[in-house]
Amino acid sequence: MVNSPIHSLVLGAGVGGLSVALLLAKAGRRVTLLEKQSAIGGRLARFHRDGIPFDTGLHFTSSLVGILGQMLTVLGAEDGIEAENFPWLLRLPDGHELVFPNCGRKQFYEYLAQEFPREADALRKYRMLETEVLRNTPMFDLRVGLDDSMMAFSDMDQLPLGVLLEQLGMSPELSCALASPVLYHGGVPAEVPAARHFRVSYGFEEEMIRLKEGGDALIRNFRRELERLGVEVRTSTYVTGFQELDARGQCHSAELSDGTSVVFDDLFSSLHPAEIVPLLPSDNRRGFQRLVAQLEDTCGFFTIFATVDERCPVKPHLVSYLRDFDFNKIMYASSCQESFLSTGCVFSRERRQDDTPVQCLILLSPYPAPPSVPPPSPEEKGRMTKVVLDHFYESLPEMQGRIQVIAAASPHTYARYVPPGRGAYGVRMRVDNPRLMGRLPVRNFYGIGENAFAPGVVGTMLSSFLVARQVLGEGAYLGLLPERAFPDSFVAWNSNF
Ligand SMILES: Cc1cc2nc3c(=O)[nH]c(=O)nc-3n(C[C@H](O)[C@H](O)[C@H](O)COP(=O)(O)OP(=O)(O)OC[C@H]3O[C@@H](n4cnc5c(N)ncnc54)[C@H](O)[C@@H]3O)c2cc1C
Repeated sequence: MVNSPIHSLVLGAGVGGLSVALLLAKAGRRVTLLEKQSAIGGRLARFHRDGIPFDTGLHFTSSLVGILGQMLTVLGAEDGIEAENFPWLLRLPDGHELVFPNCGRKQFYEYLAQEFPREADALRKYRMLETEVLRNTPMFDLRVGLDDSMMAFSDMDQLPLGVLLEQLGMSPELSCALASPVLYHGGVPAEVPAARHFRVSYGFEEEMIRLKEGGDALIRNFRRELERLGVEVRTSTYVTGFQELDARGQCHSAELSDGTSVVFDDLFSSLHPAEIVPLLPSDNRRGFQRLVAQLEDTCGFFTIFATVDERCPVKPHLVSYLRDFDFNKIMYASSCQESFLSTGCVFSRERRQDDTPVQCLILLSPYPAPPSVPPPSPEEKGRMTKVVLDHFYESLPEMQGRIQVIAAASPHTYARYVPPGRGAYGVRMRVDNPRLMGRLPVRNFYGIGENAFAPGVVGTMLSSFLVARQVLGEGAYLGLLPERAFPDSFVAWNSNF
């Protein structure tokens, strides 16, 4: 008799769900992927206005030479993915402009040492602490074992970033430069563990890149691999309830929104923890519900989508300008409301649907995520757009008269792919937060997605790899890693800590 393959149910087809679905299918499992929206991709997907493509949740990321390239290769989704170096600069409230070299971590620190010569000692200590955390984090090489000692918390997991910067006696300018990647993980310096900050900021110190065709390029490759591996994708479908647990504390059946039910061996949820709670079998819900109730979310972004006059050629790059030195104020949802203390300006060159070139600009300002504020009325949105643009022209006066606004979005607008009430990067990480990776109160349910390990596209994919590795077991997992995922260039990169 032939054993039927294990059947895994995956909830949510953003980058987290897509990655785990492919890994499980590659390991020989039967996989069903449920997506509430009518298309896969989640926050990876672009949208088009007037034939112009705009990104939603993937504007830039860290180098393809590192862990991202490895993961895409393992998933069979690396072909045709092209990236461009995406320089980034930071304008501080006092007018000091930092133009990061964007060509390696060593160069990043050399540059800062030049800019802040009197703080060389504090900077060296900061870099040393970061290096120690990176060395002890099994996330930069997919082959490195997950033994317990490596996953153990270090002192830097208990120390908030803001406290560390204070202890090192850094100036507000240098603190701002080192803390600025909070804009890419949503943490607040007063509460985010320094170790978590290091794990995200490392990628940006190394190299910031932008993908040609944005997340759509990834979705295209993921879709092809899903088809090739026979993954059943059911869009516009979601779970409405689960069967009660069996004697082993497991659950194997769910009712779906289309009136059907599905039977499965195990389940992988990329949903926000607060969204999965009401669906869980009732007797297992309470403890987890209490835990989830303590969690707060990151802020969202008020976003302006615009084009830049062709007569004013712009190079693709990111400018973040700050109107306050204090990232605690900038990132706390309640204080960022309407004051727009910082804006990230993403300049890029794209092609319209009719293949003509177009220069795009996306302005992202931290803004409270729903439900902490109600959706803005069209008038309020218009007023907020004006405030952000005024700040923009103040900071980049050379852009005056060169911008045409195409659309504006509050975090409520993103509710189509970010569940309502959720921040841009999901749960806000604090030193006292529990680890959420793989953790759901039903024995055969696993939590993946941005809240499991680290947010952002790379952090979210990593959580899928870490959870799949635990579930599949070392042998099966290592069997999924082809040699070509680890070219010589990667080894050199990885030993660069
Ligand atoms: C404005 C903005 C800008 C960002 N910029 C960047 C950036 O430049 N770089 C970067 O790396 N990261 C960025 N991020 C963060 C990044 O997009 C996310 O961390 C990452 O995409 C999360 O992936 P995910 O799979 O966990 O979630 P998602 O992509 O949200 O996927 C979850 C999926 O689940 C679906 N779903 C929801 N409920 C259900 C249900 N009940 N049943 C079935 N399906 C359901 C959703 O429709 C969605 O498709 C940004 C985010 C935002 C909002």
